[in-house]
Order: sequence, then structure tokens, then C-alpha cells
Amino acid sequence: MDDLQKRTWAEISLANIRHNYEAIRSDIPTGCRFLGVVKADAYGHGALRVAMLLQDCGADYLAVSCLDEALELRAGGITMPILILGHTPWQYTGSLIEHDITQTVTCLAKAEEYSAAAVALGKELNIHIKVDTGMSRLGFLCDGSLSEEGVDHIARSCRLPGLHTEGIYTHFAVSDEPGEENRAYTEKQFALFMHVTEELQTKYGIRIPIRHCANSGAVVNYPEMALDMVRPGYLLYGYGDTTGRLGLKPCMRLVTTVSTIKHYEAGTSISYGRRFQTTRRTRIGVLAVGYADGLPRAASCKCSFYTPWGKIPQVGTICMDMCMADLTDLYEVEVGTEVELFGEHADINALAEAAGTIPYELLCSVTKRVPRVYK
Ligand SMILES: *Cc1c(COP(=O)(O)O)cnc(C)c1O
Repeated sequence: MDDLQKRTWAEISLANIRHNYEAIRSDIPTGCRFLGVVKADAYGHGALRVAMLLQDCGADYLAVSCLDEALELRAGGITMPILILGHTPWQYTGSLIEHDITQTVTCLAKAEEYSAAAVALGKELNIHIKVDTGMSRLGFLCDGSLSEEGVDHIARSCRLPGLHTEGIYTHFAVSDEPGEENRAYTEKQFALFMHVTEELQTKYGIRIPIRHCANSGAVVNYPEMALDMVRPGYLLYGYGDTTGRLGLKPCMRLVTTVSTIKHYEAGTSISYGRRFQTTRRTRIGVLAVGYADGLPRAASCKCSFYTPWGKIPQVGTICMDMCMADLTDLYEVEVGTEVELFGEHADINALAEAAGTIPYELLCSVTKRVPRVYK
């Protein structure tokens, strides 16, 4: 980045992503595949860069949420397998096949549509079956009274012409949350998933080679659920290792700079809505970051940032392109000083809490205006 242009940027440590990949890899059983989730621009870290790194590291699979994200990776030279976790309209079956992209199939009706489209092209589409075991989102319902019908629908999907069923998976709702109730729920989801795969084998003679269910929470908290492949996203970027068991490192630092500094007398209101009033002569720094960069407006007056000399409280409403901070107690901070919003020193969890959200959302919210600087 042009040094004079330094405004706000996201510093991404590829070395830390590699470190995290290797730490997770050495924690999972040998023979267990590693799928890196790179949806949503790799949680803001840059999908193509992260995918290239994972391909280089020897990861087995990538996952994205939609066809456009998959095509971006193929156009960028990614040759490893890519799974689309979300829905793709059957009309794009040709594109999926042409670019060798694996599609998730979530119900019999969609399986039939993909099958018909693939047969019409005289080709085969690689699919993974998704089972809804309690997330109540996408997937074949196989619980309770739907048990037999669900498994039957999966079996019928697998047998359709033009489809090759390589994988079957499910997704956990509370694998990252502590407590006995959450553990019981996750174990119930897992047991149902195992039941489905066993029924497929014993009743229908269908053995699907890649069974996977472990998102980040499960990789950390339920290593016994790794099966044939793990599927971490958040964890890969250095978050969610709540106990520090894996020794992971955060990979993004969001950094801004001080644009100008002014002094105001006590009783001066700062920013839109006059939500903050100075109570003493105050040295205010204007920071070159706002909600259009991904700093949530909801965190206004509730967060603080890191400078090499200590923390500075954010004051006044966060604007689109700027926000203000109280520098009165840190006279060392000057125009041009780098201020970390989250990263190595400023805890992303604290900022997320101030904004009433989770770190996932902050990572994905760093906008395209913010240049990614790779280290
Ligand atoms: C996003 C997603 C993941 C990754 O979740 P993390 O909590 O980031 O590990 C895994 N599987 C599915 C189906 C997902 O949608």
C-alpha cells in the first residue's frame, strides 16, 4: 500500500493462517480430510489468497456458499475440490459440472432437478447430501416420524442418474457453546446423523465415502466427531479456540490512522446526535474509519481501540467514514498514529460485544473499501 494513502486497512497474516491450518491438521486423526471454509471472502480475509494458501498447504477441500464464490476461485486458478454449501438453482447444473464444483443437495425434489439437468447434458454432477439433524435450516429431515421417509429420500437421491454422491454431512447448532444442555443437543444431532448413514448402508447398501459434520466448535469441543472430514471456518482464522487448546493465532488486524487532533472545552458535543459531551478540556482525535469500513455504528461510545501507548475510548456516534476518540490521557498519540480496532492487541470479542454481535459478523463486515495487506 502507498504509505501516503494509509487510511484504514486490514492486515492479514498468511503465516498465521498456515500455522492454524497445521495446528488443526495435527489435531485431527490421520486420514481425516480437511475442508477449509472460505465463504464470504474467507470471512473477510480474501477468499482467493486463503484458497491458494490452503491448496499449497495440502488441504483436501474448500467450501463456499454460492456459485459465484466458487467461480471466483476457479477463475483464480484453484484446482482443488470445492463444495457449495448453499443452494444453486438447477439451471446452473452445466456450470457446476463444467467447473468441477460439488453441489450440496438438500431434498429429493432438488436432487431430481439436478439429475434431470445432468442427464440432459449427458454428464454427472458431484454432490454431497445434507441432513438436517437439528439446525432447522437446509437438509433432508430425518428425525422422529420423518426418519424412514428422510432416509428413503436420501437413498432415492443417491440412485438418481447423473448424480455422483461423494459426501454426506450435517451442521451443528450449538457445538461452540458451553454447558450440558448444548452438549446433549450436539450429541443428539451427531447420533441422528450416524443413524442416517448406518441406515443407508444396512437398509439400502449405500455407503457414502465422505461423512462430515465438524464445524469449528466441534473440532475444538468434540474431536471424536471428526469422521472422514472436518469443516472449520472461524477456527482457521484463529478464533473460537476458547480454551486455547490448539494454540491458534488470529489472522486479521483492522488498523486505522488518526486524521486530525483538536482540543475542545468542557461541555462540547461531539458528532451526530450530540450523544457525547466533553466533561473536561478534551483532546479529540478523528479516526479515518467508520461504519462504511465495517466498524459497527452500534458500538458507538461503547468501545475502545489500541495504540502503542495504550487504549483510547471511542466517543460520539460512529459516522460513515470517521469516528472520534478521546486522546486526552495519551498525549503521545499524534496525527498519523496507527490505531488497532481489533487484532493482536485489541480483542475482537470486546468490540463484538459492544456492537451486540459476534466476531464472525465483524470479520465479514470489513468492506471492500478496506485494502487487505498480506504479510
Ligand atoms: C459456515 C459453515 C461452516 C463453518 O463454520 P465455522 O463455525 O466458521 O467453523 C461449516 N459448515 C457449514 C455448513 C457452514 O455453513
